[in-house]
Amino acid sequence: MTETKSTCPYCGVGCGVIIESAGGQITGVRGDPAHPANFGRLCTKGSTLHLTATAEVTLQTRLLQPMRRVARGMPPTITTWEGALDDVAERFASVIDQHGPDAVGFYVSGQLLTEDYYVFNKLAKGLVGTNNIDTNSRLCMSSAVAGYKKTLGADAPPTCYDDVNHADCLFFGGSNAAWAHPVLFRRIEDAKRARPDMKIIVADPRRTDTAEIADLYLPLRPGTDVMLFNGMLHVMLREGWTNPRFIAEHTRGFEALRERVRDCTPEQAAATCGITLEQLVRAARLFATSRATLSLYCQGLNQSSSGTAKNAALINLHLATGQIGRPGAGPFSLTGQPNAMGGREVGGLANLLSAHRDLANAGHRAEVAALWGVPSVPERPGKTAVEMFQAAADGEIRALWIACTNPAQSMPDQATVRRALDRCEFVVVQEAFSTTATCAFADVLLPATTWGEKIGTVTNSERRISRVRPAVPAPGAARHDWSVVVDVARRLETRLPRRTNDGRSLFPYALDNAAGAEAIWLEHRESTRGRDLDITGLDWAQLDAQGPQQWPMPEGALEGCSRLYEDGIFPTPDGKARFVDAVYAPTAETPDAEHPLWLNTGRLRDQWHGTSRTGTLGRLFGHVPEPALQMHPQDMGKRQLSDGDLVRVSSRRGAIVLPVEGCADLTPGQVFSAMHWGSEIVGGQGPEGAALGGVNALTNNAFCPDSKQPELKHAAVQVAAA
Ligand code: SF4
Repeated sequence: MTETKSTCPYCGVGCGVIIESAGGQITGVRGDPAHPANFGRLCTKGSTLHLTATAEVTLQTRLLQPMRRVARGMPPTITTWEGALDDVAERFASVIDQHGPDAVGFYVSGQLLTEDYYVFNKLAKGLVGTNNIDTNSRLCMSSAVAGYKKTLGADAPPTCYDDVNHADCLFFGGSNAAWAHPVLFRRIEDAKRARPDMKIIVADPRRTDTAEIADLYLPLRPGTDVMLFNGMLHVMLREGWTNPRFIAEHTRGFEALRERVRDCTPEQAAATCGITLEQLVRAARLFATSRATLSLYCQGLNQSSSGTAKNAALINLHLATGQIGRPGAGPFSLTGQPNAMGGREVGGLANLLSAHRDLANAGHRAEVAALWGVPSVPERPGKTAVEMFQAAADGEIRALWIACTNPAQSMPDQATVRRALDRCEFVVVQEAFSTTATCAFADVLLPATTWGEKIGTVTNSERRISRVRPAVPAPGAARHDWSVVVDVARRLETRLPRRTNDGRSLFPYALDNAAGAEAIWLEHRESTRGRDLDITGLDWAQLDAQGPQQWPMPEGALEGCSRLYEDGIFPTPDGKARFVDAVYAPTAETPDAEHPLWLNTGRLRDQWHGTSRTGTLGRLFGHVPEPALQMHPQDMGKRQLSDGDLVRVSSRRGAIVLPVEGCADLTPGQVFSAMHWGSEIVGGQGPEGAALGGVNALTNNAFCPDSKQPELKHAAVQVAAA
């Protein structure tokens, strides 16, 4: 038996695993006791990974050969890699030639490795000349990114998992970490057991498993987080619980915020949020007066049409109370996906450039152009996720390359997404699994490696870079994502006008082996020199010898940096953090007479994304066996519904049919459905009667004006017996 150290491919906790294999087959998995993210622990999903990689599952679910569809509606047939790659290059070159570089788009994934992300970004911005590259991380973390940058000056979570052991108060905002980040939550439970005086506050419209360990649960009305945070700040100011010295020495912009929250009386804030005045005041007191407060937040803040304001308003509280830059104190966004951080590091989004540079900054564009050896990086802003599919639905984007993600299930407003995929002249889907809904829209399918086969690096929620190592060879003809991109890019270099300064290839990496992946990583590493995430002091040999490291780790550093801003200096031009004048705005859709209920969506404990991997394992359905709509018993009574009755749930965008289930953890007026289910949900329909699966037939694609993250968590719906 061989043992290989790697990471879990599911959530952003980024647990280390030891993969056991024999005869080219994965035979077991266990937690890596030396990995600082989990010290050997795994959750139900991580501990069953090996069972999702058996020969039988591989045969039934994996995309094993390149495939091409002669015409839409026809079944795809096997082709050669040469044929498939030539086809992709030819069709993309043709669209670019006829309609310009912005007529193509790349939609990638927070589950790609950093090396995959890097070459996709270089292909789009360096070779093709478009910024139309975005990722499913837009649906997950972009509000957290915008919130950090507006307040602290850089997209960098300043805290680390170990802060859980130093905090005297934990504040959860829109995070069900008990299910979405289980191994981190075990650490929190341990800390609470060891120090029962540590106070835990949970603010969430649903009384989740996370709320079970709360000393104070705030059953927040959906979308009212900014009002909660501003109301808490009002109380802190009134009671003298802020830290004037920290505000004066380390921040700017407090006066405007003080004026803003002056009108946010505790009575008004409590009434808007649907909580009591006592709850609001207690939350403010615990947060401000604890020795160290750590806030942990996730999609409840991020997936919102005011996601950036929500993030900034929470960080305002840390700055106003000086709860930052000390052990146990600071804001900590929990990353949804395993490598959303890595994607941001290489700038693989429509508004970013390599190493946390901004596309809108001419100096940053020039720096990246110089690093790549190209005359320029295009200035026109790229299309973000929702904008990209809208542009494809409108005929503006004509060719899409989708990698390692399933927009035909995961994007909001499925009717628009599917119209986009239908209308595109050419759709490439690069995937490990043949079973995703998006595969049905592909003209060309490119088989990719996945967990246990891939090589490269990922970065978890606490800025920790880990090596991802292959335990077994790729099955069938599957190839590493970065290799596929490089192979197409080289073909495009012969078909598009040369963009390099000296005529050399932009993609000089060895294909299909560790040396190629490491060469890409080294190029990424060089791009970080002098930046906030500088990792020029790190290399793969060190990661092998010393284990995973947290950035920054500049040249000369002996180890990574666990906690940021301990010196009180922030990465802004004057070294001071910024308060943001965060304004409360209601959700884009609010319930009305026609659609009287608030739909919330979220994760289950034992499923992952569209279930392409977790759905292969019967035991992971033991926790929640089938799709359901959760509804408060009072709302069910009004509609004369009983548990198990089929209901038709409709929004302004579509409808689905699924069984209803009473749930007193919701407040009346709210319903909840998991985001994982797709084809398991029957009867889905769009506006023109088109078949749509999954809860995203209903969700709203309205997005935050700053982060462009869509409001997947709030849609107005009606529910009636089916
Ligand atoms: Fe994997 Fe997340 Fe579970 Fe860790 S907590 S084993 S990273 S799913």
